Amino acid sequence: MSNNIERHNCIIIGSGPAGYTAAVYAARANMKPVLFTGKEPGGQLMITTDVENYPGYPDGIMGPEMMENFKKQAERFGTDIRYEMITKVDFSGPVHKIWTEGDTEIHGDTIIISTGASAKWLGLESEQKYANKGVSACAVCDGFFYRGKEVAVVGGGDTAAEEATYLAKLCPKVHMIIRRDEMRASKIMQERVMKTENIVVHWNTETEEIYGGDFVEGARVRNNKTNEVTDLPVKGFFVAIGHKPNTDIFKDWLSMDNVGYLVTKADTSKTNVEGVFASGDAQDSVYRQAVTAAGTGCMAALDAERYLVEKGII
Ligand code: NDP
Repeated sequence: MSNNIERHNCIIIGSGPAGYTAAVYAARANMKPVLFTGKEPGGQLMITTDVENYPGYPDGIMGPEMMENFKKQAERFGTDIRYEMITKVDFSGPVHKIWTEGDTEIHGDTIIISTGASAKWLGLESEQKYANKGVSACAVCDGFFYRGKEVAVVGGGDTAAEEATYLAKLCPKVHMIIRRDEMRASKIMQERVMKTENIVVHWNTETEEIYGGDFVEGARVRNNKTNEVTDLPVKGFFVAIGHKPNTDIFKDWLSMDNVGYLVTKADTSKTNVEGVFASGDAQDSVYRQAVTAAGTGCMAALDAERYLVEKGII
């Protein structure tokens, strides 16, 4: 029975910059990596427009195009890419076990985790009710549907600033709902927001409810200093309040912080389980950039290679 179970030197879970970079290094080191893309192949850069801060692209590049390049580079060296989701793992033994969504068991001598992070939601009931009916976590994906309409973006980070400036090109008015009296976004993004005439910033403001009929027709917001309640007549409501690492399936096996970021040993990609390495946004709560994710993906492949050599597996 167990003879039928596939076994690989190196299994990579995730297909963002971390996963594909790990794949390029692992494939070139003859580790014959198998990469599982997960349910969002390409990761968060697939829902981004211009990437202007990735070194080597002086004119910037579109996120999806960049991820296509990452994938091609990983394939060029022989990475076995599988468009499947991993739903369960067992890291109790020297050989690590994973299961696909089709419940196929696969074994790996090393596992590189690069499962990234996903958008967070406010937690309002009405937000659930209107998901994909006016409520979205991705302006680039859905902004087109709100052309010519008034919209709101919640959050004050770089993502919210980017989404608001993107939407401002399509929509007559964009309300930014920010819960404090300052933004967390980088100075340059804050400046872009402030310079965009059709973005209205609502400081110290929280969302009480999103309402409408079949689709969103407005959002009720409250100033948390004055308690003043305002109805914003928006048809689109974009939530951009950060991300949660996709690490739930590892919680019985790996050390993580209270948010769910995987803990790695200082200056390495090593987790608390031998042969299991973590990279990218799944383990980085601080930098969370494509270039840092790629860097930690490289570290994970090098750490995995050393592990396989030390164990005499390759
Ligand atoms: P951040 O964590 O940086 O910002 C989240 C924002 O949402 C903050 O303003 C936060 O408010 C607010 N927020 C969080 N929870 C709630 C809530 N429940 N209700 C209302 N507001 C809430 O996340 P981002 O996704 O913006 O950015 C993540 C990382 O990615 C950052 O390092 C960022 O620099 C990077 N990034 C870079 C880009 C680029 O360089 N082009 C583009 C996009 C992201 P508060 O400040 O009060 O906590």
